[in-house]
Amino acid sequence: MAMVKADGYGHGMVMAARAFQRGGCTVFGVAELREGILLRQASIPGEIYVTIGFPGEEAGLILQYDLTPVIYNIDAARALSLQGVASGRDIGVHIKVDTGMSRLGVLPKELPAFAEQVSRLKNLRIAGIMSHFPESDDLKAESTKKNFAAFTKECKGVGGRDKLLLHIANSGAVLNFPGTCCDMVRAGISLYGYHPAGPKGCLTGDSGQLKPAMSFRSKVLQVKSVPEGTGISYGRTFVTQRKTRLAVLPVGYEDGYSRSLSNRGQVLIHGCRVPVLGRICMNMCMVDVSELSEVKAGDEAVLLGRQGEETISADEIAEKMGTISYEVLCLLGNNNKRQYSE
Ligand SMILES: *Cc1c(COP(=O)(O)O)cnc(C)c1O
Repeated sequence: MAMVKADGYGHGMVMAARAFQRGGCTVFGVAELREGILLRQASIPGEIYVTIGFPGEEAGLILQYDLTPVIYNIDAARALSLQGVASGRDIGVHIKVDTGMSRLGVLPKELPAFAEQVSRLKNLRIAGIMSHFPESDDLKAESTKKNFAAFTKECKGVGGRDKLLLHIANSGAVLNFPGTCCDMVRAGISLYGYHPAGPKGCLTGDSGQLKPAMSFRSKVLQVKSVPEGTGISYGRTFVTQRKTRLAVLPVGYEDGYSRSLSNRGQVLIHGCRVPVLGRICMNMCMVDVSELSEVKAGDEAVLLGRQGEETISADEIAEKMGTISYEVLCLLGNNNKRQYSE
């Protein structure tokens, strides 16, 4: 299953799904019902799992758009069963079990009784059981093995095991714990070219082959020189120590370039790393191009990705922001004009 939630981790949900489809993928995962509907409206074929489930009153949409329902509450299951009966259709559902994430799902000890209740509902069939790992990005964490043991043990208790599709592995598990792949994996961040554990994860296993898909490029608006002792941007948090050439970029926190990168971020211009000076504004920021005498308005600035021999990764930006690549990709991807190339 290719996870395309959060607008394809910032890459554009429909375009990401089409790219994975061209690569042979036939199963897609979204978080919300709304996202599943958007994929169908864009004519994405195959199975589309709605992993955070659906409210009972919207059960009809699951059928209408032929989405694969994930259930963990009996009221939603009942509502879906009624829809199944009304339309004369049999609906395969996947039960979500909480084996250690403490997020959605029935607790392992509740699974047998819950599955029993679901199996008694008309026109519903238990097609699979799923769970989610909280710590599989860490090769050394013991929790993954324990969670997996709980998962397989409880799944055994649910009737007709060989007819059920079991799935628990996210990118971290695929890369670090291939023994947990079961009948299907749900890969997200790795499909977009990043390791779930960031740069330290890339030092292990096969992950050196991951290639980031996204880059973020802009153009210099204005270049000018200011004398020593000049304050830069709101709050004058940076004051020049020398005569300084500034390049102004049309990129600010409104564009997903976090204000927490003020005085910390770096940008590539003419193939060189240059620092962000002062606070990042809503729509603009300033960088120091004193060492690059040729820079002029209109020149390309790369905030994420490669220019010449230099690369800025989402992991690097994430580390400066105190977050993970996932959030950087969502922020930059979901707040800017996208262009696709193959
Ligand atoms: C997001 C998500 C995944 C994918 O996780 P990655 O770490 O991006 O691979 C898998 N399963 C569920 C239920 C998810 O929400």
